[in-house]
Amino acid sequence: MKKIALLGATGSIGLQTLDVIRLHPEEFELHSMAFGRNVEKALPLIREFKPKKIVVQDEQTKVTLEKEIDQPILTGTGGLIEVSVDDAVDVVVNAVMGSVGLPATLKAIQAKKTIAIANKETLVTAGHLVMSEAKKHGVELLPVDSEHSAIYQSLNGESKKDIHKLIITASGGSFRDKKREDLVGVTVEDALNHPNWSMGAKITIDSASMMNKGLEVIEAHWLFDVPYDQIHVILHRESVIHSMVEFVDRSVMAQLGTPDMKVPIQYALTYPERLDLPMTKQLELEEIATLHFEKMDMVRFPCLRMAYEAGRAGGSMTTVLNAANEEAVQLFLEGKIPFLDIERKIEKALEGHDRIHNPDLSTILSIDEETRKQVRFHLN
Ligand code: MG
Repeated sequence: MKKIALLGATGSIGLQTLDVIRLHPEEFELHSMAFGRNVEKALPLIREFKPKKIVVQDEQTKVTLEKEIDQPILTGTGGLIEVSVDDAVDVVVNAVMGSVGLPATLKAIQAKKTIAIANKETLVTAGHLVMSEAKKHGVELLPVDSEHSAIYQSLNGESKKDIHKLIITASGGSFRDKKREDLVGVTVEDALNHPNWSMGAKITIDSASMMNKGLEVIEAHWLFDVPYDQIHVILHRESVIHSMVEFVDRSVMAQLGTPDMKVPIQYALTYPERLDLPMTKQLELEEIATLHFEKMDMVRFPCLRMAYEAGRAGGSMTTVLNAANEEAVQLFLEGKIPFLDIERKIEKALEGHDRIHNPDLSTILSIDEETRKQVRFHLN
């Protein structure tokens, strides 16, 4: 029986993680759960799974929840850390949104927990710290992101020195058939309408801007220790091939399946074994018949270009990239800026930043905060 601490329980990945736990009650137990402010969504889950520890984002949410349940409630980063290092916990599923997941990830690594990582922003903002701690403590980070799970599965039994390149597939997001000039007046509703995957708001906007793929390139760089020149992105609109690895002998391994996040979530929880996943639609290639692939256009998708540039520059540049993007996406979701201002604000934040080589945790957290302030309050 694996005991799970689930961070980000009411988000899209969190809810699907609970679906997996529900399917295999003899294998998994929800030991603790953390969520932001959505008490309405969390209450029935608390009553169903009866987690021993609960974490919420702030005092106000704690007060609201205390009226409904009779158990101590933890808050904030301190709470996330407490459940992540709990002796009873075997696996920490980090599915929070944004760089807020970083301190808990580092502490969980130090406590030698297995980590199923869905929180790509943690790796983008501080990949060098996370991976060096993981190496130091002999901890495995199991990817939940579908592309990285595909690469992880394709690398099973292989040697890292034999990797020639990683090929990450991109569905293209909700605006893949629009030209740049068509993006001027797009609305939040347009952006949230993803053709293939059902996901949370932030990642769906990131998919529309192609920043999600940019973040995934950086995530892959850190998870698999592969240089940026050997990480390729191709447009593959069917989302059937979830990503691939080309080896030095030109052999290519791919992982395929219908687009359902429960597959990579469950694989991260069962690795190196597999369990039945009866509800997930089987892949019927004869129904799909044709798969399409296109070269990525860096002019059409400047967020992908900026992510490669920030990744190659290294140091604190990816912290700025991530923080500027998180804040700009939030402003767009609040209706305060148009869609194309997301990339403009990120570009400006990157241009105005003096790179710091090898930043430590407190430097990263202060750059993160400063960048968010700039993006939010310097409104041009
Ligand atoms: Mg992904």
